[in-house]
Amino acid sequence: MTLKFRPEIKDLVPYKPGKPIEDVKKEYGLTEVIKLASNENPLGSSPKAKEAVVKSVEELHLYPDGNSTDLKEAIANFFGVKATQVLPSSGSDEMVDQISKTFINHGDEIIIADVTFPRYLSTAIMMGGTPVVVPLKDFTYDLEGMKKAITEKTKLIWLCNPNNPTGTMFTEKELLDFLNAVPKNIIVLYDEAYNEYVTRDDYPKNSIPLLDKYPNVIIMRTFSKIYGLAALRVGYTIASEEIIENINKIRGPFNVNTSAQMAAIAALEDQDFLKESYRVNKEGKEYLYKAFDDMGIWYAPSETNHIFLDAKKDCQEVFTELQKRGMIIRPMYKTYIRVSIGTMDQNKKFIELLKEVLA
Ligand SMILES: *Cc1c(COP(=O)(O)O)cnc(C)c1O
Repeated sequence: MTLKFRPEIKDLVPYKPGKPIEDVKKEYGLTEVIKLASNENPLGSSPKAKEAVVKSVEELHLYPDGNSTDLKEAIANFFGVKATQVLPSSGSDEMVDQISKTFINHGDEIIIADVTFPRYLSTAIMMGGTPVVVPLKDFTYDLEGMKKAITEKTKLIWLCNPNNPTGTMFTEKELLDFLNAVPKNIIVLYDEAYNEYVTRDDYPKNSIPLLDKYPNVIIMRTFSKIYGLAALRVGYTIASEEIIENINKIRGPFNVNTSAQMAAIAALEDQDFLKESYRVNKEGKEYLYKAFDDMGIWYAPSETNHIFLDAKKDCQEVFTELQKRGMIIRPMYKTYIRVSIGTMDQNKKFIELLKEVLA
């Protein structure tokens, strides 16, 4: 008797996260390891968020508020939308999954960039959708190419701005031109995991008002990146009430835990922590740019907390050699690697070790 798994998942492979620090310590007998592999906030998280987590232990025996009512309201107030337009999730990861479950049927075409967040593709395949993959152009989303890929069968288009892993962005004007060209029955997923890090002023920093004119847009953000709450798993989606109502039908009853809800509210209130994180990231980025320039290393211009660069050596080899020396980064493909921007000490250590490995 053979087990009958869904044929849709036959060729999927498990997601490969950044290697944990403890694994590397054990593997190489190291006492000190720096991880610049998962775009985490090197400053940690807001002290106010930590206090909220401590407080939340008094409620460990209780189920969370399944509706995340207070968190929804905090997010709604922060952005000036209705609470019924907000849906928190267990990280944006879970939301990618839920959106695919809500919209994708067999035969639907899903337009996705070739080098971007991998869960867009795997959840489309999982639901039996047909991915239509549009290559990046100059390491940036090719919105013209994506427009041309639209057919009668297109159901969903995934946009990541700025993009992970390349760190590149497209402008407000490019986004509006694109949205104006997309038929309103096609869902446009707009993932802004790195919105708060963007420094350029032609970026649509405040995307929320787009929802009034484009009811087919779904905005996704997370507390994992600049807010530094990756361990708690909490993100949120803002969209029309109709879209939120429908995603809500397939949502698990207690998907966002109590600690995450309480910490996210506190984190949102601590915008000073955000400002400091932005500053440290910008400073680190400028330091790394200069070091790469001095070394003759090409990198994509980043509007995020990570940099995509050409190590001019097989990325797996660079990854392994750095790891042996206590530095975890992310190998991408060919000779490209991605490094998260750390504290100044971490950035300096990275450059020192990179020089050693590339010598
Ligand atoms: C990190 C990241 C996410 C996922 O974040 P969660 O931790 O699941 O909230 C979503 N989209 C992109 C592009 C990311 O880089």
